[in-house]
Amino acid sequence: MIFDTHAHYDDDRFDVDRDQLLGNTLRAAGIRKVMNVAADLDSVDSTNELSLRYDDVYAALGVHPSEVDPLTDADMDHIRDLTEENPKVRAIGEIGLDYHYEDSDPALQEKWFIRQIELAKELDYPIVVHSRDAAEDTMRILARFYEKNSQRINGVVHCYSYALPDARQYVNRGFMIGVGGVVTFKNSRKLKEVVSEIPLSSIVLETDAPYLAPVPFRGERNDSTRLTYVVEAIAEIKNISPEQVENVTYENAMRLYGLS
Ligand SMILES: [Zn+2]
Repeated sequence: MIFDTHAHYDDDRFDVDRDQLLGNTLRAAGIRKVMNVAADLDSVDSTNELSLRYDDVYAALGVHPSEVDPLTDADMDHIRDLTEENPKVRAIGEIGLDYHYEDSDPALQEKWFIRQIELAKELDYPIVVHSRDAAEDTMRILARFYEKNSQRINGVVHCYSYALPDARQYVNRGFMIGVGGVVTFKNSRKLKEVVSEIPLSSIVLETDAPYLAPVPFRGERNDSTRLTYVVEAIAEIKNISPEQVENVTYENAMRLYGLS
């Protein structure tokens, strides 16, 4: 059984076969649960709806750092209302910092990252962190937050792309490390080292579908059935069986999102 902890099935690219995938294909391929993760304000609503329509789909609601420009306090209230109405909302995300494209002001990104962490704490939900080319600032914000509030922040660093020392710090704080198709790429030496050195109990599987398809599908539309290639890559790196990777990461994901 596989838990895809990060996917975007509300994306346009699934318009042609979304119902077949979520209603049938994924389950037949051993994909037992999917966390659909919102990115912008529209997808907060479409993610919420998907989780209400399909048994195996859960929802993370939040706004990606590249999409924070139009945000207002009313949007935070809207996210809070949806989480209170729908028990399948299990996390706040994806939230964080992205300095890769320089299209969104870093100060504004930071403001809404912090606001959404505070919302997660208020609701007692884990956070799904998106962090790209922003290792230091992400760590600084989470660390400061950690000191300022005695209460613990839980969550996952999705599509983990930083070096091993940072991964160890996240793991020590109880965070999960999200591993997907990138681990199958030839040039992913850094991620392979992270996977090798951190315990399996801190790893969760993710596609980021429709993005980041594993080898040999690199560049194509990704979906959760392709996680078997990620499972095999992790099993090979850690020299354990694919079944062990599936079982342990499934339990990790259930713990992360407070499911049983
Ligand atoms: Zn994503």
